[in-house]
Amino acid sequence: MNKGNIGVTSDNIFPVIKKFLYSDHEIFLRELISNAVDATQKLKTLSSAGAFKGEPGDIRVRVKIDKDKKTLTVSDHGIGMTAEEVDKYINQIAFSGAEEFVNQYKDKAEAIIGHFGLGFYSAFMVSDKVEIFSQSYNEDAKAVHWSCEGSPEYQMEETIKAERGTDVVLHINDEFKQYLEDATIEGLLKKYCKFLPVEIAFGMKKEWKDGKQVETGEENIVNNTNPAWTRKPADLKEEDYKSFYRELYPMQFDEPLFHIHLNVDYPFHLTGILYFPKIKNNLDVHRNKIQLYCNQVFVTDEVANIVPEYLTLLHGVIDSPDIPLNVSRSYLQSDNNVKKISSHITKKVADKLAELFKNDRADFEKKWDDIKLFIQFGMLSDEKFYDRAIGFALLKNIDKQYFTLDEYKAKVKDAQTDKNGDLILLYTQDADASYTYIQRAKEKGYDVLLMDGEIDVHAMSQFEQKAMGDGEEEKHALRFVRVDSDVIENLIVKEDKAAVNLTTEEEDALRYSFEGLLPKNDKVNYVVSLENVSADALPVFLTQNEWMRRMKEMSAHQQGMSFYGQMPDSYNLVVNIAHPKVQALLAELKEATGNSLDDLNQQVEALRKEQAAEKDAKKDEPKEGEEKRDLTKEIAALREQIKQHYTDSAKDNDKVSQLLDIAFLASGLLKGEALAKFVNRSVDLL
Ligand code: ADP
Repeated sequence: MNKGNIGVTSDNIFPVIKKFLYSDHEIFLRELISNAVDATQKLKTLSSAGAFKGEPGDIRVRVKIDKDKKTLTVSDHGIGMTAEEVDKYINQIAFSGAEEFVNQYKDKAEAIIGHFGLGFYSAFMVSDKVEIFSQSYNEDAKAVHWSCEGSPEYQMEETIKAERGTDVVLHINDEFKQYLEDATIEGLLKKYCKFLPVEIAFGMKKEWKDGKQVETGEENIVNNTNPAWTRKPADLKEEDYKSFYRELYPMQFDEPLFHIHLNVDYPFHLTGILYFPKIKNNLDVHRNKIQLYCNQVFVTDEVANIVPEYLTLLHGVIDSPDIPLNVSRSYLQSDNNVKKISSHITKKVADKLAELFKNDRADFEKKWDDIKLFIQFGMLSDEKFYDRAIGFALLKNIDKQYFTLDEYKAKVKDAQTDKNGDLILLYTQDADASYTYIQRAKEKGYDVLLMDGEIDVHAMSQFEQKAMGDGEEEKHALRFVRVDSDVIENLIVKEDKAAVNLTTEEEDALRYSFEGLLPKNDKVNYVVSLENVSADALPVFLTQNEWMRRMKEMSAHQQGMSFYGQMPDSYNLVVNIAHPKVQALLAELKEATGNSLDDLNQQVEALRKEQAAEKDAKKDEPKEGEEKRDLTKEIAALREQIKQHYTDSAKDNDKVSQLLDIAFLASGLLKGEALAKFVNRSVDLL
């Protein structure tokens, strides 16, 4: 019997390991099985190189639970270890790795979120005692038995072991009894070992017989040793990719739209298959994550620091031994290999999309609605991706035709360029709701885009910004405007409008009559404006500022913009003075008022003159004792009386209410009691 101290300086390394790794103690199984698989792979290599003369024979790795003895055993038939090797690799090297690790992270437990190669010693996270029984492939060597009870003291002795390879026996601590349950271990094997390159057996296969499950004579192999991503693309058919997708995500019933097979040897190693899913909503996205493997060992499905965020919308696997796993996540992002990997994947994804677009545009268009969110997200978050994607990113119009931005610009350029040379792209977010507006646009020969996607608003803003260019050459703007945000003549302005030619009294009559009847509401702001629109537009209508509305929409799913979300909705009530009904109403209002406001108007006029004179003679300070008159206040009080007059008279005039209601109705805003009143009034008016 050989006793010794494990080569570390710190006596209490085990409590430290346990404490640090507490949150992720299940990885011990992954580490032990990885070691077993490595040892088996090494044996295969030695065998094919002729350095190992015997037959490899049965090379399955086996995981066994003994509930009575409270042990979990991982056995392999790999190269095994001699006593010298146990001393070198387990007593010295492995421990020094653990010590280094603990020193590095002593003060920042939070930096360790999960994945590192603590290797063999992670077994002590869940065990009171760990034993190794090993017989080296070198048959001259004696078998060795090593054991250690979670202190730096170990025992080593010669033993007899019939079969080549290593058994690692864990005496599971009472606190971790779950690791003696078949279901727990089965679950961990499915999680970490699903695609390991050597067969892993756990118990026997079961089958249903006479209403109950019975064991068959066949071992239960938990893994697929030859997953699709490790094979050559040329050897795989479309169906192989689909069935691998189902293997990866057994709970996913939608088929992926298409895939990308990644295969890089230089300057880093990377294999993998990425799938484009149909992205319906965010829930979908979080369920099937990209899985990261390292030589077929599952590492994590948190790849956010390895690939750009928008790529996390994809599904599939990435396998790379070049992604450092034993570092904190923030470090990961600054790692050069990770950066290269990330930009490689981005390029591959863009190339694949460009290829699909070029080779089968009809099919690409069919899939567009399902990949649109992904592509827009990519364009918004990555300049480089934008530059690649602008060639295949599509716009869809309400007739379900698809265009690239350049194609679309060329299509509408002649009709939709306004008097300043700006190109105006019309869109709707709901073709039914804005039906009448769309009709008006079509009558003018304009086209309308359908922009009902989750991040279309952001995408439009990006197109607008990009179109401005940074050089002199691009002087004309590109603007997206919602087709129902104003009358079509105002959206694409072809010529200067005739000026509004009203007297102050006429303006007051129209403005105050409508203002007085507008609904009062904290969440909505209305401003009345008198405009010379056109005789065939609606007499009165509501418009909404494109920019403000977009800001509000964007703030709905963007942090830090909540300011806009809290702003009240703001509408313009446009009174179209070119419309004959408005002109008739004005005549009526004037007649109803007669001379009754003459006196007030004259007083206002007089005060204004006085105010103007005062401004000119500003230097003359008021004399001592003489009280200063507040002319502004006096004028405001008089104006208030004028306003009140029109508000009162508007209440008696059904036409004002009727026109106002029609404006609200056309914008889909007439509801409840207001709608009922409108219906009744309309009947009366017939
Ligand atoms: P790592 O696997 O990262 O090298 P470990 O602590 O897991 O670190 O293992 C240390 C060394 O012990 C391994 O590199 C290997 O040489 C040896 N070893 C561990 N497990 C086995 C095994 N099952 N068979 C043969 N050698 C093993």
